[in-house]
Amino acid sequence: MTRDNQIFELIDKELNRQEHGLELIASENFVSRQVMEAAGSVLTNKYAEGLPGKRYYGGCQVVDVVEQIAIDRAKQLFGAAWVNVQPHSGAQANAAVMLAILQPGDKILGFDLSHGGHLTHGSPVNFSGKLYQPLFYGVEKETGLIDYKKLEEVALAEKPKLIICGASAYSREWDYAFIRSVADKIGALVLADISHPAGLIAKGLLANPLPHCHIVTTTTHKTLRGPRGGMIMMGQDFENPWGLKTPKGEIRLMSNLLDMAVFPGTQGGPLEHIIAAKAIAFGEALSEEYGTYIKQVAANAQAMAKAFVAKGYGIISGGTDNHLMLIDLRNKNITGKVAENALEKAEITVNKNMVPFDDKSPFVTSGIRVGTAAITTRGLKEAEMEQIVELIDRVLTNPEDEANLNTVKAEVIKLVSAFPLYK
Ligand code: PLP
Repeated sequence: MTRDNQIFELIDKELNRQEHGLELIASENFVSRQVMEAAGSVLTNKYAEGLPGKRYYGGCQVVDVVEQIAIDRAKQLFGAAWVNVQPHSGAQANAAVMLAILQPGDKILGFDLSHGGHLTHGSPVNFSGKLYQPLFYGVEKETGLIDYKKLEEVALAEKPKLIICGASAYSREWDYAFIRSVADKIGALVLADISHPAGLIAKGLLANPLPHCHIVTTTTHKTLRGPRGGMIMMGQDFENPWGLKTPKGEIRLMSNLLDMAVFPGTQGGPLEHIIAAKAIAFGEALSEEYGTYIKQVAANAQAMAKAFVAKGYGIISGGTDNHLMLIDLRNKNITGKVAENALEKAEITVNKNMVPFDDKSPFVTSGIRVGTAAITTRGLKEAEMEQIVELIDRVLTNPEDEANLNTVKAEVIKLVSAFPLYK
């Protein structure tokens, strides 16, 4: 077979883009070489429908061990009693949870997408909003913090079957115990989607939802710094509250329902090469070195938030407890769209993001979301955070001035060159 230069040249081009730019997208990171190696390994050749020791295909003796190691490491990392590491992505993990516990038309209560929630928590353009009846809570206008009173009011009035907490653009801690207490009043289940702060939770920098929430989902590629993928966890297994039974009349445990909702419910064969890469990333995350890394992620986010505030930028909720922040550009007379495009020209990658109570569309937006997970992997620290905010401010102050953008771009390339990626 001739080598596909067309694609490999593009991969080189992407490596070059990643190396020479400032990656501030809050959901991205740079995996280790060994994670990439496993993701590109011969395990991609293997079919393994089923679970370790219970497969529908022969020849699974090796991948069985790999998948069991991934499960065991994930349990250790989060203190979980049960884990399924097969979801191909965060969206797949959430789809499987909903398939396991809901019937079409059931009510779900999630964090509003326009306030920082995720599409899979009930957006009308997503399966979760099409198949189920979505209800939402948001943040308080004055504080930018979760409006727990509203959450409780809607929950008690509407009695959803599932309450979802977790977000894509919320920079503060969650009160999982309170949400569980609300759910218990109406017999609802609680799903915590920790896709974003998973790494901070694993290392104890933020509260762990597993003791409070019935089910927890996460992606593996954001702060957790693994391959692209998802997983589902429980702090303890329990009998499904809907009384679903096997053909033999046994009540199924929630773990059975969730396993079955992943396969055959929403997926076919698991990606064992990605599961191997997950196992490696979990092993890395168990290390002290990763503990130091994730503390620096949080410290960098604090330093960055402080620098933005010092330059007169509004941060939703006033700051951050995790790795990201949502910057409100309304007082700076620039939209998220213009900001994202101008920053990109200066090799600074962010994403435009709606801010709570935004009057602009999701294609325009009044904000940008920034995060520190990727740049911290490169080794940048607090001093560089101030420099980065200075560079961003120079772009946003003169977004149309090409000469200005080119000068900033040169400074960005110089800054990141001191922190080589994949040396
Ligand atoms: N849940 C949350 C909170 C997320 O932020 C994301 C991704 O941004 C997802 C789920 C979906 O993950 P994926 O893109 O892997 O499907």
